[in-house]
Amino acid sequence: MFTSVAGCSVVVTGGSKGIGRGIAAVFAGAGADVLICGRDEAGLARTAGEIGAQRVVADVSTAQGCQQLAAAATERLGGIDVLCANAGIFTSHLLATMSEHDLDEIFAVNVKGTILATQACLPLLAASGRGRVIVTSSITGPITGLAGWSHYGATKAAQLGFVRSAAIELARQGITVNAVLPGNIRTEGLAELGDDYAATMTAAIPLGRLGTVEEIGHACLFLASVEAGFITGQTLVVDGGQVLPESSDALA
Ligand code: NAP
Repeated sequence: MFTSVAGCSVVVTGGSKGIGRGIAAVFAGAGADVLICGRDEAGLARTAGEIGAQRVVADVSTAQGCQQLAAAATERLGGIDVLCANAGIFTSHLLATMSEHDLDEIFAVNVKGTILATQACLPLLAASGRGRVIVTSSITGPITGLAGWSHYGATKAAQLGFVRSAAIELARQGITVNAVLPGNIRTEGLAELGDDYAATMTAAIPLGRLGTVEEIGHACLFLASVEAGFITGQTLVVDGGQVLPESSDALA
């Protein structure tokens, strides 16, 4: 159906667990050469072994960490065709008590990390001739809102601002830049928000379940395909229909 990504070089930031692990596993399963990064070596080693990926410890919130990522991709993959800028954190804070540190921390990983990772990988993506940047944003911020998540929503909306301008800037180098917007996906990070959060969200999803990390991986696989080569600067919502209901009655 779609042209295979077999043999493509794919970097997934935050690939040790959650959505990043799902993205990395889907690409590895499709025959791509995959490099995952994160901060925790033990988690990276476990996942890399399980899915057959290369790994590098790199903190995407710093330019140095992103340079280490690009250097590892050069050394172990020989380049980059696809960068999945997925690493992100989500800690809940009400505005009344949110500290400056809370704000700096989440912008450093989610926004700076997306931009710095793309910047560091740019020469390799340009050399590919079919470079792809696929950003993991969220429905929270770009489309929906939730008390306690104003800072997180701001970072996820900021990523889309980046995607649209970067798509124009990098188009002449044959690089497309798009974003996937997951709804509520069953991950380790989401599990930490508790059973009540998962139950409330499940009740708000027309398809009646949380998403799987592989379902986000398949959306990324599509955006990485040759057939998606004319799509750039766009967003793909993968949420089981969560953003659709006009009122809670619409779900009855
Ligand atoms: P997760 O399970 O907590 O995994 C986060 C991943 O990012 C881990 O591999 C983590 O590894 C890595 N990471 C965190 N900070 C990093 C840093 N500074 N440098 C490098 N790697 C870093 O989270 P998730 O739910 O999969 O979320 C992944 C992305 O999906 C995020 O961008 C999030 O906003 C987005 N998202 C998630 C959902 C959901 O329902 N889960 C919904 C919408 C959007 P280390 O801890 O080892 O660094």
